[in-house]
Amino acid sequence: MRVVVVGAGYAGTIAANRLAKKVPDAEITIVNDRPEFVERVRLHQQTTGTGGAATPLSSMLRKGIAFRLGTAVKIGGNQVVLADGEQLGFDYAVIATGGSVHPIPGSIPVGTWEGARAAEGRLTALQDGGDVTVVGGGLTGIETASEIARSRKGLKVRLVADEFAAGLSDGARRKVRKSLEKAGVEILADRIVGISQGRGRDVVRLASGSAFESDVTLWAVISGVSDFVAQSGLAVDERGRALVDRFLRSEGSPNVFVVGDCAAVPGARPSCATASPQGAHTADNLRRISRGKDLEPYSMGYVGQAVGLGGMNALMQLVRSDDSPRNLYFSGFFAAVTKEIVSRYAKFGSRTAIYVWRKGRI
Ligand SMILES: Cc1cc2nc3c(=O)[nH]c(=O)nc-3n(C[C@H](O)[C@H](O)[C@H](O)COP(=O)(O)OP(=O)(O)OC[C@H]3O[C@@H](n4cnc5c(N)ncnc54)[C@H](O)[C@@H]3O)c2cc1C
Repeated sequence: MRVVVVGAGYAGTIAANRLAKKVPDAEITIVNDRPEFVERVRLHQQTTGTGGAATPLSSMLRKGIAFRLGTAVKIGGNQVVLADGEQLGFDYAVIATGGSVHPIPGSIPVGTWEGARAAEGRLTALQDGGDVTVVGGGLTGIETASEIARSRKGLKVRLVADEFAAGLSDGARRKVRKSLEKAGVEILADRIVGISQGRGRDVVRLASGSAFESDVTLWAVISGVSDFVAQSGLAVDERGRALVDRFLRSEGSPNVFVVGDCAAVPGARPSCATASPQGAHTADNLRRISRGKDLEPYSMGYVGQAVGLGGMNALMQLVRSDDSPRNLYFSGFFAAVTKEIVSRYAKFGSRTAIYVWRKGRI
């Protein structure tokens, strides 16, 4: 069985490692556009210099898996085509190219490795008294603003959000808002419509008509899917995510599985808590194929949603299996420890292929 995995994030790495473990004679090639495994859940720490997000892929992949450094640009006729023209033939492909960002011009996206490094450089160079604007009221924006405010107390931090912590319960949302305010973050309920340059600073214009100046403007909205899926020729939904059946196979391409942020699984939230089980489940299904068995439908249920509030402070929102928030959450040091354990478990699962998850309605 020849299998090509495209994308070595949480979903792709666990899929390749678990398949190598369970089907030792499978010929597995994994393609990634950089030689590191990037823990995207730690990009806000990379941005502030409070933690590193990259690990060499050579230490993450099992022996026997071929690694190809490159960018996949197309899939078709049982071949994955790379930007340099190389074609990788497969019997089965696993597409795991993740999400992407569409920053407003003039801002730096913190949801990508390159953006997080660029932001880190700009923040390091910024003197106390400087202004930092974080755009986005989702978990990435909240984590980024909190981490900056707690680690660089001399900076003025502003969070611009037209929606704030939408996935949390009312009580948890209030708690997160209070924590940001306590850390000195100013929260503006507005939407950025443009950024221009004036006297060496960003001039940020808002939908409400007002404007302000900022030294560094960080885009913390994860709003899209990797370009590969759109270009690949696979069937996609209106958000550009690949349409999949209940076995996570691309609609119309039964030997192509799609997992993680780039798959349109109804009810799934873009997260490592989603990517890891989807990658693991696909490896298990490829093993079933190798043994002539029927495929098992994918099933998972959520447990919680964590949001970092800077340093050793976090909030853990408990959720129902379908990811709707319960009126239950905890915060503080214990929540930060829980979040750290969850982040480590996701990386451990990708590296060792040892991963168990709750079954449920997703
Ligand atoms: C700041 C931040 C904080 C977060 N916090 C949390 C959290 O606390 N909990 C949580 O569950 N989730 C969190 N997330 C979301 C989580 O990180 C993602 O949902 C998760 O990384 C998705 O995994 P994936 O394997 O689908 O994609 P990714 O981890 O994005 O991996 C995709 C891989 O594919 C590669 N790739 C892309 N295109 C190509 C191509 N054409 N050719 C070759 N390689 C390609 C990429 O370089 C990357 O290595 C956070 C995200 C951010 C940005």
